Amino acid sequence: MDKKLAAAIQRDNDLEDAGMHGDDRQTCWTHQSWAEDCQDQPLHTNPSVSHYTRPA
Ligand SMILES: [Zn+2]
Repeated sequence: MDKKLAAAIQRDNDLEDAGMHGDDRQTCWTHQSWAEDCQDQPLHTNPSVSHYTRPA
């Protein structure tokens, strides 16, 4: 994974933990990619996916 993407995912995780809504992420935890690169994936057509499941 590209370091910039990895850093952005970590930053989004931290922001989300701090209260940012999942829809405001610039990265996708589910796909480990930029949100704009996977927004057309079938998983994302379901609005209930806005809360990402994370490993413990
Ligand atoms: Zn995705």
